[in-house]
Amino acid sequence: MASEVYFWNLRTSFKKSYEVKLKNLINATGFLDKIEKKDIVGIKMHFGEKGTTSFISPIWLHPIISLLKQKEAKVFLADTNTLYVGERVDAVSHILNATRHGFDPAILGAPVIIADGLKSTNEITINFNGNHFKEFYFARDLFEVDALINLSHFKGHELAGFGGAIKNIGMGCATRRGKMQEHCGLGPKPIRKKCVGCGRCIEACEAGALYLDEENKICVDDDKCVGCANCLVACKNGALEVNWKIDVKLFLERLAEYCTAFISSLKKPILHINFVIDVSPVCDCVGFSDASICPDIGVLASYDPVALDQACLDLVNQAIAINVGQYKNEPKPGEDKFKAIHPKTQGEYCLEYAEKLGLGSRKYELKKI
Ligand code: SF4
Ligand code: SF4
Repeated sequence: MASEVYFWNLRTSFKKSYEVKLKNLINATGFLDKIEKKDIVGIKMHFGEKGTTSFISPIWLHPIISLLKQKEAKVFLADTNTLYVGERVDAVSHILNATRHGFDPAILGAPVIIADGLKSTNEITINFNGNHFKEFYFARDLFEVDALINLSHFKGHELAGFGGAIKNIGMGCATRRGKMQEHCGLGPKPIRKKCVGCGRCIEACEAGALYLDEENKICVDDDKCVGCANCLVACKNGALEVNWKIDVKLFLERLAEYCTAFISSLKKPILHINFVIDVSPVCDCVGFSDASICPDIGVLASYDPVALDQACLDLVNQAIAINVGQYKNEPKPGEDKFKAIHPKTQGEYCLEYAEKLGLGSRKYELKKI
């Protein structure tokens, strides 16, 4: 059965500004009918790594927050700490980074909460019978909400092909341990020349998987490592890195499975909204954005994250290609633009697999606002 996907194509006028149109889009979904007075509503988003400019601008949040406040809901903006070491690696630098990018509670009326805590240990373990995992690790605070808006910037991604609704939950709601589980099955990779033998990582490793060899350089026992990623943050010298190498299809299956585990366990209303604007070739986690690969398309919303991502992918692929210097192979109309930029990716496979898991339907009905 086809799922409904609501679509605003960004057209505005004097009488119908962006605020009116965005509110119309959300009203059309009926999401506000599910919100009660004093409900705590999280808006899961990505505040953009330092150096990127293509993340969803705070200006778009005003109409959304305003609608929720009319229902007397308590609203907060949420993200989780990253696996890689950057400006979003702990809650302190993450909140400062979000503030620098304009996500200021004094302006928006909604605070930023890093939902997995200071160092990603504010975690809840979810039991779910997946094909790859039986235990899933998510940010605990996201399981305390009464309702959730999954607000994603639809753009390219070097490993997933594209990032949208599924990725914003599957990866974006996982703790560092969960992210590590999705990205690799191995312990961290030691960079011997950077290790000074200080032992900080050994203290941080509760599994006893790290030791110093006779040259005072760090070694990892993969059999003992549980993939919590604590050591990556403990090391101040960059001597431990994530083993990023993973089969692309396996990664996409894990991503879809994580998203399915989250949604089926939360059991609260979730509205997925994708902004298909500033469609940058790489993820907002990278410290640059580069020019868009197609014209701005619009904002889409649905209760079905599979249908939503499929609709966004189709609209991007049907659009003209711009800034064609970024493409390894310039795509013809209808061809996968993200694959033309990152040839090894197979983004559509994530949607196929998610549909098989029962997360949603790839068939959709586009309802224009
Ligand atoms: S890996 Fe980093 S934290 Fe661990 S001993 Fe080496 S320098 Fe110290
Ligand atoms: S990822 Fe966790 S368990 Fe593995 S070596 Fe690092 S701290 Fe230890």
